[in-house]
Amino acid sequence: MLKRYLLAPGPTPVPPEVLLSMAMPMIHHRAPDFLPIIDSAKKGLQWLFQTKNDVLILTSTGTGGMVGSVNNFFNAGDKVLVLNGGKFGERWTKICQSYGLKVEEVMVDWGFCIKPEHVESALKKDPDIKGVFVQATETSTGVYHDIKGIAGVVKKFENTLFVVDAISALVAEDIRTDEWGIDIVVGGSQKGLMLPPGLAFVSVSDKAWKRNETSKIPHFYFNFKKERENLAKNQTNFTSAVTLIIGLNEAIRVLQQEGLENVFKRHARLANATREAVKALGLGIYSKESPSNSVTAIEAPAGVDGQQIYKILREKYGITGAGGQDRAKGKIFRLAHLGYADTFDVITGIAALEMVLKELGYNLKLGTGVAKAQELLMV
Ligand SMILES: *Cc1c(COP(=O)(O)O)cnc(C)c1O
Repeated sequence: MLKRYLLAPGPTPVPPEVLLSMAMPMIHHRAPDFLPIIDSAKKGLQWLFQTKNDVLILTSTGTGGMVGSVNNFFNAGDKVLVLNGGKFGERWTKICQSYGLKVEEVMVDWGFCIKPEHVESALKKDPDIKGVFVQATETSTGVYHDIKGIAGVVKKFENTLFVVDAISALVAEDIRTDEWGIDIVVGGSQKGLMLPPGLAFVSVSDKAWKRNETSKIPHFYFNFKKERENLAKNQTNFTSAVTLIIGLNEAIRVLQQEGLENVFKRHARLANATREAVKALGLGIYSKESPSNSVTAIEAPAGVDGQQIYKILREKYGITGAGGQDRAKGKIFRLAHLGYADTFDVITGIAALEMVLKELGYNLKLGTGVAKAQELLMV
């Protein structure tokens, strides 16, 4: 037997009470018993997104929410700015281009963080830019971008929407949708929300709804206006993902019981312990600035293949983390501490990492990283 541990930045482990809530017999999505379920999910999401805006519930992966955030608010030929610091930044560019938008990019090296002043100078240079797209956490590099700082810049430009992919950041980072004035925030079920894959969430501001009226890109499935009208009646445009929405309510209940502040503190604590344990082992953190609270990207030691670390962790010790993507492939591996994660997820991950590194010939004293994590996680 090999006991499995899921320490990937999505999908993440699902708490038992959430799993159980999803084991109930099916109910009909247009029948009265489903209405209070969506009503509660709607309010729970507003709490989590820290917003009074409607938060749409879409049956899709997170990328569906990203696609809808482009084709409901923009037009072919619109100039937009993508802040690109990794694999998911590239995805914004590809989605925008697929609808004929003209993309300009602010690029940073992988592992680095987008600076608000670079966004400001790009916007000043071209006041025609209709939207700014960014990841809150760039999952491929483990960097959390300065969403507050960038929001402060974009807010000054009346005709520019600020669109944030917070799919892997939500729950782990304190993102203040309304207070900071973020127009569109995209979330997904299988990351911090501790649910199986299959739901995307999109919070939409009044400014963005106004823009929606002028968008002419054809779309049938992700029709946000129709989704909004349905949501007002506690419905979704098409068949609701009944089971996942029931699970969503339970997951939100679990988070509410802990309290949002404490949820953020827990993630910060776990992320810090992971980084310090890794450093105690003599390894480097790939995120040179603003490392995220969702996932830690760890540099493989010289002469060791990061994919090999990922592979042995998984095959020998049952721990599924993540490797590196694209240009980071082989150079890094990633351990998440996202959603249903606590002290012993970190300690387990670090303990196994030490065993794998030793097997690969890296010189270390077993227990060094674990001791560091224990020290930092003692309560
Ligand atoms: C996981 C993730 C996505 C969405 O991926 P899906 O596979 O479509 O759910 C998008 N952006 C970021 C930053 C992510 O981490």
